[in-house]
Amino acid sequence: MNTTPLVQVSALTKKFGKIEVLKGIDFNISPGTVTAIIGPSGSGKTTILRSLNALDVASSGHITIGDVTIDFSKKVGRREISALRAKSGMVFQAHGLFGHLKVLQNVTVGPVVGQKRNRKEVEAEALELLELVGLSDKVHARIHELSGGQQQRVGIARALALKPDLLLLDEPTSALDPELVGEVLRAIRNLADTGWTLVIVTHEMQFAKQVADQVLFIDQGLIVERGTAAEVLETPKHPRTREFLARILGDF
Ligand code: ADP
Ligand code: MG
Repeated sequence: MNTTPLVQVSALTKKFGKIEVLKGIDFNISPGTVTAIIGPSGSGKTTILRSLNALDVASSGHITIGDVTIDFSKKVGRREISALRAKSGMVFQAHGLFGHLKVLQNVTVGPVVGQKRNRKEVEAEALELLELVGLSDKVHARIHELSGGQQQRVGIARALALKPDLLLLDEPTSALDPELVGEVLRAIRNLADTGWTLVIVTHEMQFAKQVADQVLFIDQGLIVERGTAAEVLETPKHPRTREFLARILGDF
């Protein structure tokens, strides 16, 4: 396995006005691995993903993704922001698909229109991605004909079509009816098995146990505990991790 980290985050802080929401976050991500971020509401999980994707510009610290490094203690230019943003794809809780377009077009529009890539080539890749997320039979469906779980999977394929180095998933199943959660988790597991590098904020602890290579427990803007899924989720050391898991699992 390649040991050079794909992602290196060090001493990352983020302030909104006077409130420091991230208070010095450090972690690495190896290529082809799954990182699960867990923690209470308001602890800073989304802000970490948004900082990686440069939707939020961190206040200090460093982020390296592949060949792009940004030092946020200096003034950060627009070009640096777009270089960092291009490294990752982000899948939001609400997917923001183009409702009037068909599934295939939703996946191809970014690479064809945004990246000016060859349509034939992009379509061939899009069909593979749609197969990967289990939507081969919905290629020509319109978005409004799909269930929430299917729409979320189109959102994933769309993000991957831009060939990011890593995919960021922010509670990808939390807006779904319970019976649709499984199909989306299966699709995400397929991505992991295919070798995509994933960062996923999730409350699905069973899923995190099964797919995550590393788990980060965030509380009040700090990583309180980290380790393998077994270490953090089965034998948590920190009282705050235990308390959080007890609340989530109900019987820890
Ligand atoms: P989580 O995803 O863990 O629930 P967030 O990263 O969304 O937490 O938010 C962390 C904290 O930062 C929360 O207290 C939230 O209210 C605050 N916050 C997030 N975004 C903004 C913003 N744009 N402006 C001000 N405060 C924000
Ligand atoms: Mg969040």
